[in-house]
Amino acid sequence: MNEEILQKIALIQERINNACKESNRNPNEVKLLLATKTIPAERIKMALQAGQTLIAENKVQEIKEKYEALKEIPHTNHFIGHLQTNKIKDLLKYNVSCIQSLDRLDLAEKLHQRLQFENKTIEVLIQVNTSFEESKFGVNPDNAIELVKHVAHLETLKIKGLMTIGLFSSETEKVRKCFRLLKDIQQQIIALNIPNVKMQELSMGMSGDMETAIAEGATIVRVGTAIFGQRIYPDSYYWNENI
Ligand SMILES: *Cc1c(COP(=O)(O)O)cnc(C)c1O
Repeated sequence: MNEEILQKIALIQERINNACKESNRNPNEVKLLLATKTIPAERIKMALQAGQTLIAENKVQEIKEKYEALKEIPHTNHFIGHLQTNKIKDLLKYNVSCIQSLDRLDLAEKLHQRLQFENKTIEVLIQVNTSFEESKFGVNPDNAIELVKHVAHLETLKIKGLMTIGLFSSETEKVRKCFRLLKDIQQQIIALNIPNVKMQELSMGMSGDMETAIAEGATIVRVGTAIFGQRIYPDSYYWNENI
């Protein structure tokens, strides 16, 4: 099993390298994040022992369950799931360095309150719903800049960029549109020169669409299935509040 994960990681690294070559980018500009939802700590451990350093969960409960098993291996934890405000306090116990799924002001304000209380800061990416699908989280693209401006005033939240989940479609050009839109919003925000706002990270691209995302400027690709295999739960379980 160890061998299998190593091979899959090597394959992904090769896909990243090839995609970078195609678009004249330096592979060092693209970080591989392992999306580890539903994956047992033992298998995540193998990936960390193989040299991977960046992992992310979608649910606070899963971070909690795997925390003890993983904490002795140095790594960086991001959060990429829908965050309910009543889980904030719990989430902050587990050494998460970046919340990639900040998508609304009330969440930002409650996070800020709690962080102030704990005398901490945290990195955030603003999640944008570039596919305009109701089933997906993320701020509406038309309201993204507004949200960034508001969050910029909350000094415990360090904005580092944007995150999106592309449209699920076999039509590459439709998927590309989502990533282009995220890049476009990033460029608009950079031009506004908002204090306390960095825009270096574009977290976009997953197992099925990472090449397109890299071509459009991704700096973080989030990969689950292509490394750990198919999950038992449908993604809607993680992405849709109604399920
Ligand atoms: C599960 C998940 C991924 C990884 O998706 P795969 O298709 O398994 O590579 C990426 N981003 C988010 C937000 C996810 O929930």
